[in-house]
Amino acid sequence: MQVELMSHTAKPKEVIYASARQCYSKYGAWEVFNKSGDFSQDKLNKFIEHLFQRGHLSPLEHVSFTFAIDGVSRACTHQLVRHRIASYSQQSQRYVSMQDCEFVIPPVIEKDSEARTKYNEIIDYIKRSYDELRNIMQKNTDLDKESINQDIRFILPNAACTKIVVTMNVRELIHFFAERMCLRAQWEIRIMAGKMYNLCKTVLPEIFTAAGAKCRLAGKCPEGMDDCPMNPKKNNIEK
Ligand SMILES: Cc1cc2nc3c(=O)[nH]c(=O)nc-3n(C[C@H](O)[C@H](O)[C@H](O)COP(=O)(O)OP(=O)(O)OC[C@H]3O[C@@H](n4cnc5c(N)ncnc54)[C@H](O)[C@@H]3O)c2cc1C
Repeated sequence: MQVELMSHTAKPKEVIYASARQCYSKYGAWEVFNKSGDFSQDKLNKFIEHLFQRGHLSPLEHVSFTFAIDGVSRACTHQLVRHRIASYSQQSQRYVSMQDCEFVIPPVIEKDSEARTKYNEIIDYIKRSYDELRNIMQKNTDLDKESINQDIRFILPNAACTKIVVTMNVRELIHFFAERMCLRAQWEIRIMAGKMYNLCKTVLPEIFTAAGAKCRLAGKCPEGMDDCPMNPKKNNIEK
Protein backbone atom coordinates (compact mmCIF):
# COMPACT_ATOMS: atom_id res chain seq x y z
CA MET A 1 0.00 0.00 0.00
CA GLN A 2 1.29 3.43 -0.95
CA VAL A 3 -0.12 6.61 0.59
CA GLU A 4 1.39 9.90 -0.55
CA LEU A 5 0.48 13.44 0.41
CA MET A 6 0.12 15.25 -2.92
CA SER A 7 -0.74 18.64 -1.50
CA HIS A 8 -2.26 20.57 1.36
CA THR A 9 -3.53 24.09 1.88
CA ALA A 10 -0.64 26.54 2.04
CA LYS A 11 -0.05 28.32 5.38
CA PRO A 12 -2.62 26.08 7.11
CA LYS A 13 -2.31 27.56 10.60
CA GLU A 14 -2.53 31.10 9.26
CA VAL A 15 -5.68 30.19 7.27
CA ILE A 16 -7.30 28.67 10.38
CA TYR A 17 -6.28 31.64 12.49
CA ALA A 18 -7.54 34.28 10.04
CA SER A 19 -10.85 32.47 9.42
CA ALA A 20 -11.54 32.14 13.13
CA ARG A 21 -10.15 35.53 14.19
CA GLN A 22 -12.42 37.48 11.85
CA CYS A 23 -15.40 36.01 13.71
CA TYR A 24 -14.39 38.08 16.75
CA SER A 25 -12.78 41.04 14.99
CA LYS A 26 -13.76 44.18 13.13
CA TYR A 27 -11.07 43.20 10.55
CA GLY A 28 -11.71 40.83 7.68
CA ALA A 29 -9.97 37.46 7.32
CA TRP A 30 -7.82 38.74 4.44
CA GLU A 31 -6.41 41.59 6.56
CA VAL A 32 -5.78 39.23 9.47
CA PHE A 33 -4.20 36.66 7.13
CA ASN A 34 -1.82 39.26 5.68
CA LYS A 35 -0.71 40.26 9.16
CA SER A 36 -0.37 36.66 10.38
CA GLY A 37 3.25 36.57 9.20
CA ASP A 38 4.01 38.95 12.11
CA PHE A 39 2.55 36.54 14.69
CA SER A 40 4.68 34.06 16.55
CA GLN A 41 4.03 30.34 16.02
CA ASP A 42 3.30 30.19 19.73
CA LYS A 43 0.46 32.70 19.35
CA LEU A 44 -1.03 30.75 16.43
CA ASN A 45 -0.74 27.45 18.31
CA LYS A 46 -2.39 28.85 21.45
CA PHE A 47 -5.22 30.31 19.42
CA ILE A 48 -5.85 27.00 17.66
CA GLU A 49 -5.79 25.16 21.01
CA HIS A 50 -8.36 27.66 22.28
CA LEU A 51 -10.61 26.91 19.27
CA PHE A 52 -10.48 23.20 20.12
CA GLN A 53 -11.40 23.85 23.73
CA ARG A 54 -14.41 25.94 22.68
CA GLY A 55 -15.47 23.44 20.02
CA HIS A 56 -15.26 26.18 17.39
CA LEU A 57 -14.18 23.76 14.68
CA SER A 58 -15.51 25.22 11.42
CA PRO A 59 -12.22 27.13 10.75
CA LEU A 60 -10.54 23.70 10.42
CA GLU A 61 -12.69 23.06 7.36
CA HIS A 62 -10.78 25.68 5.35
CA VAL A 63 -7.62 23.55 5.33
CA SER A 64 -7.51 20.43 3.18
CA PHE A 65 -5.12 17.56 2.51
CA THR A 66 -5.00 15.59 -0.74
CA PHE A 67 -3.64 12.01 -0.76
CA ALA A 68 -2.75 9.68 -3.62
CA ILE A 69 -3.49 6.13 -2.49
CA ASP A 70 -2.37 3.09 -4.44
CA GLY A 71 -2.37 -0.67 -3.95
CA VAL A 72 -5.37 -0.94 -1.66
CA SER A 73 -8.33 -3.25 -2.22
CA ARG A 74 -11.75 -2.22 -3.43
CA ALA A 75 -12.98 -3.48 -0.04
CA CYS A 76 -10.87 -0.76 1.56
CA THR A 77 -11.94 2.06 -0.76
CA HIS A 78 -15.58 1.06 -0.40
CA GLN A 79 -15.23 1.81 3.31
CA LEU A 80 -13.27 5.00 2.62
CA VAL A 81 -15.90 6.50 0.34
CA ARG A 82 -18.56 6.08 3.04
CA HIS A 83 -16.97 9.21 4.51
CA ARG A 84 -19.09 11.80 2.78
CA ILE A 85 -17.34 15.05 3.68
CA ALA A 86 -14.55 14.42 1.19
CA SER A 87 -13.75 14.40 -2.53
CA TYR A 88 -12.68 11.27 -4.42
CA SER A 89 -11.31 10.31 -7.84
CA GLN A 90 -10.87 6.57 -8.36
CA GLN A 91 -9.28 4.53 -11.13
CA SER A 92 -12.03 3.23 -13.41
CA GLN A 93 -12.54 -0.49 -14.03
CA ARG A 94 -14.31 0.54 -17.21
CA TYR A 95 -11.66 2.70 -18.90
CA VAL A 96 -8.76 0.68 -17.50
CA SER A 97 -8.58 -3.02 -18.28
CA MET A 98 -8.13 -5.13 -15.14
CA GLN A 99 -6.15 -7.74 -17.09
CA ASP A 100 -2.97 -6.99 -15.11
CA CYS A 101 -4.74 -6.11 -11.88
CA GLU A 102 -3.00 -6.94 -8.58
CA PHE A 103 -4.97 -8.43 -5.69
CA VAL A 104 -4.57 -7.74 -1.98
CA ILE A 105 -4.07 -10.78 0.22
CA PRO A 106 -5.16 -10.34 3.85
CA PRO A 107 -2.23 -10.99 6.24
CA VAL A 108 -4.01 -13.74 8.23
CA ILE A 109 -4.70 -15.63 5.00
CA GLU A 110 -1.13 -15.08 3.81
CA LYS A 111 0.28 -16.51 7.06
CA ASP A 112 -1.69 -19.77 6.79
CA SER A 113 -0.27 -21.90 3.97
CA GLU A 114 -3.48 -23.88 3.36
CA ALA A 115 -5.63 -20.71 3.26
CA ARG A 116 -3.03 -18.91 1.12
CA THR A 117 -2.95 -21.73 -1.45
CA LYS A 118 -6.75 -21.77 -1.71
CA TYR A 119 -6.91 -17.95 -1.91
CA ASN A 120 -4.31 -17.83 -4.70
CA GLU A 121 -6.12 -20.60 -6.59
CA ILE A 122 -9.35 -18.58 -6.47
CA ILE A 123 -7.59 -15.39 -7.59
CA ASP A 124 -5.90 -17.25 -10.47
CA TYR A 125 -9.25 -18.68 -11.50
CA ILE A 126 -10.81 -15.19 -11.50
CA LYS A 127 -7.91 -13.73 -13.52
CA ARG A 128 -8.21 -16.50 -16.10
CA SER A 129 -11.98 -16.16 -16.20
CA TYR A 130 -11.73 -12.38 -16.71
CA ASP A 131 -9.52 -12.92 -19.76
CA GLU A 132 -11.69 -15.74 -21.11
CA LEU A 133 -14.89 -13.74 -20.69
CA ARG A 134 -13.32 -10.74 -22.44
CA ASN A 135 -12.28 -12.95 -25.37
CA ILE A 136 -15.80 -14.40 -25.61
CA MET A 137 -17.34 -10.91 -25.54
CA GLN A 138 -14.93 -9.67 -28.21
CA LYS A 139 -15.76 -12.66 -30.41
CA ASN A 140 -19.54 -12.66 -29.94
CA THR A 141 -20.39 -8.94 -29.78
CA ASP A 142 -19.44 -5.72 -31.54
CA LEU A 143 -19.08 -3.87 -28.24
CA ASP A 144 -16.10 -1.55 -27.78
CA LYS A 145 -13.38 -2.15 -25.15
CA GLU A 146 -14.94 0.07 -22.48
CA SER A 147 -18.36 -1.51 -22.85
CA ILE A 148 -16.83 -4.95 -22.43
CA ASN A 149 -14.72 -3.85 -19.45
CA GLN A 150 -17.72 -2.33 -17.70
CA ASP A 151 -19.51 -5.68 -17.72
CA ILE A 152 -16.69 -8.18 -17.19
CA ARG A 153 -15.60 -6.25 -14.06
CA PHE A 154 -18.65 -7.77 -12.35
CA ILE A 155 -16.65 -10.92 -11.69
CA LEU A 156 -13.77 -9.10 -9.94
CA PRO A 157 -13.48 -9.60 -6.19
CA ASN A 158 -13.23 -7.04 -3.36
CA ALA A 159 -9.52 -7.93 -3.27
CA ALA A 160 -8.88 -6.18 -6.62
CA CYS A 161 -6.32 -3.41 -6.18
CA THR A 162 -7.30 0.13 -6.96
CA LYS A 163 -5.96 3.67 -6.92
CA ILE A 164 -7.80 6.61 -5.43
CA VAL A 165 -7.23 10.28 -4.72
CA VAL A 166 -8.92 11.66 -1.65
CA THR A 167 -9.20 15.20 -0.34
CA MET A 168 -10.46 15.83 3.17
CA ASN A 169 -10.52 18.92 5.30
CA VAL A 170 -8.91 18.89 8.75
CA ARG A 171 -12.18 18.59 10.65
CA GLU A 172 -13.22 15.55 8.62
CA LEU A 173 -9.73 14.06 8.89
CA ILE A 174 -9.96 14.23 12.68
CA HIS A 175 -13.31 12.41 12.51
CA PHE A 176 -11.96 9.89 9.97
CA PHE A 177 -8.93 9.09 12.15
CA ALA A 178 -11.18 8.74 15.21
CA GLU A 179 -13.25 6.08 13.43
CA ARG A 180 -10.64 4.32 11.36
CA MET A 181 -7.57 4.26 13.62
CA CYS A 182 -9.65 2.48 16.26
CA LEU A 183 -8.69 -1.19 16.68
CA ARG A 184 -12.33 -2.05 15.89
CA ALA A 185 -11.81 -0.73 12.35
CA GLN A 186 -10.95 -3.23 9.61
CA TRP A 187 -7.17 -3.83 9.29
CA GLU A 188 -6.58 -2.42 5.79
CA ILE A 189 -8.38 0.90 6.25
CA ARG A 190 -6.74 1.15 9.70
CA ILE A 191 -3.28 0.86 8.11
CA MET A 192 -4.26 3.39 5.46
CA ALA A 193 -5.64 5.84 8.06
CA GLY A 194 -2.42 5.46 10.07
CA LYS A 195 -0.31 6.39 7.05
CA MET A 196 -2.52 9.40 6.29
CA TYR A 197 -2.35 10.41 9.95
CA ASN A 198 1.47 10.32 10.00
CA LEU A 199 1.60 12.55 6.91
CA CYS A 200 -0.87 15.04 8.42
CA LYS A 201 1.09 15.09 11.69
CA THR A 202 4.27 16.04 9.85
CA VAL A 203 2.54 19.12 8.40
CA LEU A 204 0.36 20.13 11.37
CA PRO A 205 1.67 18.46 14.54
CA GLU A 206 -0.08 21.07 16.72
CA ILE A 207 -3.44 19.77 15.55
CA PHE A 208 -2.91 16.13 14.69
CA THR A 209 -0.81 15.04 17.68
CA ALA A 210 -3.99 15.21 19.76
CA ALA A 211 -6.01 13.36 17.08
CA GLY A 212 -6.12 9.60 16.47
CA ALA A 213 -8.46 6.78 17.44
CA LYS A 214 -11.67 7.93 19.16
CA CYS A 215 -10.50 6.67 22.56
CA ARG A 216 -7.67 9.24 22.47
CA LEU A 217 -10.21 12.04 22.08
CA ALA A 218 -12.70 10.59 24.57
CA GLY A 219 -10.17 9.45 27.20
CA LYS A 220 -11.98 6.10 27.32
CA CYS A 221 -13.16 3.45 24.86
CA PRO A 222 -16.56 4.49 23.43
CA GLU A 223 -16.83 0.94 22.05
CA GLY A 224 -16.74 -0.52 25.56
CA MET A 225 -13.70 -2.65 24.71
CA ASP A 226 -12.13 -2.74 28.17
CA ASP A 227 -9.42 -5.19 27.08
CA CYS A 228 -8.30 -3.20 24.05
CA PRO A 229 -4.56 -2.43 24.28
CA MET A 230 -5.30 1.13 23.08
CA ASN A 231 -7.87 1.81 25.84
CA PRO A 232 -6.52 4.87 27.72
CA LYS A 233 -8.40 3.88 30.89
CA LYS A 234 -6.75 0.46 30.90
CA ASN A 235 -3.36 2.04 30.26
CA ASN A 236 -3.88 4.43 33.20
CA ILE A 237 -4.79 1.56 35.52
CA GLU A 238 -1.73 -0.39 34.41
CA LYS A 239 0.52 2.61 35.01
C1 LIG B 1 -15.79 -0.16 12.90
C2 LIG B 1 -16.79 0.24 11.85
C3 LIG B 1 -17.73 -0.67 11.42
C4 LIG B 1 -18.67 -0.31 10.46
N1 LIG B 1 -19.58 -1.22 10.04
C5 LIG B 1 -20.53 -0.87 9.12
C6 LIG B 1 -21.51 -1.81 8.67
O1 LIG B 1 -21.54 -2.96 9.10
N2 LIG B 1 -22.40 -1.40 7.73
C7 LIG B 1 -22.42 -0.12 7.23
O2 LIG B 1 -23.26 0.21 6.40
N3 LIG B 1 -21.48 0.78 7.63
C8 LIG B 1 -20.54 0.44 8.54
N4 LIG B 1 -19.61 1.36 8.94
C9 LIG B 1 -19.60 2.68 8.29
C10 LIG B 1 -20.26 3.77 9.17
O3 LIG B 1 -21.60 3.47 9.44
C11 LIG B 1 -20.16 5.13 8.47
O4 LIG B 1 -20.92 5.10 7.26
C12 LIG B 1 -18.75 5.51 8.11
O5 LIG B 1 -17.88 5.28 9.17
C13 LIG B 1 -18.71 6.99 7.74
O6 LIG B 1 -18.77 7.72 8.94
P1 LIG B 1 -19.74 8.95 9.22
O7 LIG B 1 -21.08 8.71 8.65
O8 LIG B 1 -19.63 9.32 10.65
O9 LIG B 1 -18.93 10.06 8.55
P2 LIG B 1 -18.86 11.06 7.36
O10 LIG B 1 -19.63 10.71 6.17
O11 LIG B 1 -17.40 11.15 7.25
O12 LIG B 1 -19.49 12.34 7.99
C14 LIG B 1 -18.90 13.03 9.08
C15 LIG B 1 -19.98 13.46 10.04
O13 LIG B 1 -20.83 14.41 9.36
C16 LIG B 1 -22.16 14.21 9.82
N5 LIG B 1 -22.97 13.81 8.66
C17 LIG B 1 -22.53 13.47 7.42
N6 LIG B 1 -23.57 13.20 6.62
C18 LIG B 1 -24.69 13.33 7.36
C19 LIG B 1 -26.06 13.16 7.11
N7 LIG B 1 -26.54 12.80 5.92
N8 LIG B 1 -26.93 13.41 8.10
C20 LIG B 1 -26.50 13.79 9.33
N9 LIG B 1 -25.20 13.96 9.66
C21 LIG B 1 -24.30 13.73 8.69
C22 LIG B 1 -22.13 13.13 10.90
O14 LIG B 1 -21.98 13.75 12.15
C23 LIG B 1 -20.88 12.36 10.53
O15 LIG B 1 -20.33 11.65 11.64
C24 LIG B 1 -18.66 1.01 9.91
C25 LIG B 1 -17.69 1.92 10.34
C26 LIG B 1 -16.76 1.56 11.29
C27 LIG B 1 -15.74 2.57 11.73
